[in-house]
Amino acid sequence: MKIAVLPGDGIGPEIVAQAVKVLEALKLPLEMETAPVGGAAYDVAGHPLPPATLDLAKAADAILFGAVGDWKYDTLARELRPEQAILGLRKHLSLFANFRPAICYKELTAASSLKPEIVGGLDILIVRELNGDIYFGSPKGIRNAPDGLFTGAREGFDTMRYSEPEIERIAHVAFAAARKRNRKVCSVDKSNVLETSQLWREVMTRIANEYSDVELSHMYVDNAAMQLVRAPKSFDVIVTGNLFGDILSDEAAMLTGSIGMLPSASLDKNNKGLYEPSHGSAPDIAGKNIANPLATILSAAMMLRFSLNLANEAERIEKAVQTVLAQGYRTADIDTAGMKRVSTSKMGDAVVAALR
Ligand code: NAD
Repeated sequence: MKIAVLPGDGIGPEIVAQAVKVLEALKLPLEMETAPVGGAAYDVAGHPLPPATLDLAKAADAILFGAVGDWKYDTLARELRPEQAILGLRKHLSLFANFRPAICYKELTAASSLKPEIVGGLDILIVRELNGDIYFGSPKGIRNAPDGLFTGAREGFDTMRYSEPEIERIAHVAFAAARKRNRKVCSVDKSNVLETSQLWREVMTRIANEYSDVELSHMYVDNAAMQLVRAPKSFDVIVTGNLFGDILSDEAAMLTGSIGMLPSASLDKNNKGLYEPSHGSAPDIAGKNIANPLATILSAAMMLRFSLNLANEAERIEKAVQTVLAQGYRTADIDTAGMKRVSTSKMGDAVVAALR
């Protein structure tokens, strides 16, 4: 089984090294090959997603990704910015289904900004469509307004669009995921205002007929944003488009105490996937060996489960993470009084020790 390891920028190399250490400790027949991506790739090859890195990603069974981005690349042309690498990988590999679990471990309840009774035991899954929506719809651009109140003034414009097949395939992914959980799907849209959302709701309702054992509800995105902080445990699976999912999944991340705890998977139709922590490259703490590697380690566990069919080994990693939290090990972002503060690499070592 071949894994493309793409550490990227900022804290990427530090946290990916811990996940690799954990995978190696499992002694699986994994062939791991590393390549530069993001700003690191721009520095050595002049492009954030060089052909050699893309070829490696295409040839691999799964991709373990750190994070990309740094302020020092902010002045580059848009197509050369590090973040384009992740968009490019999603597009070239047709990774259309993004899984973001938000789990609040009982040991970390105090690290959440919400009351313990609201987040304690939280376990929800956000399924976000990744290939469509306003991020990719054309036309888009900046022009002189052809009409309206400010004719002739500069205006920016984007196009929100979803085709029926795109909505159908993400609906199937969400319903299938709900079958392995508590059999509830909440589809989030803005169908009171947007035509795209009206079609979204119509298709979700039709596909739900094929999953009579799963309960479907609909919610407007503004209400979903409120309910996520009012009663997050009322959700099981949330399915939504690219834009709404981007925002809601970050909101859900904070419910759990730290974005440093949240893994993610982006899958194609054959379950080949890219696995990465939900956070970015955190340039403010890069190189200090203080970042939390658990989101990346848990992403590696998702990789074993979804792309490599190694559910037992995935569970071993997840249990090891729970063990280190129960033992009181904490990186700075999740530390609370009375706990054992550890560095990035020490946290990786603790997970390896807990595996044994
Ligand atoms: P960020 O997620 O990198 O950081 C936000 C805050 O969370 C920072 O204070 C950071 O120190 C903290 N943080 C993040 N991960 C952490 C971890 N593992 N342990 C402890 N603390 C952690 O978001 P940002 O600051 O908005 O963006 C920084 C860069 O990352 C930008 O260039 C952005 O474009 C990029 N980015 C990349 C991805 C990706 O690679 N998929 C995703 C989001 C942002």
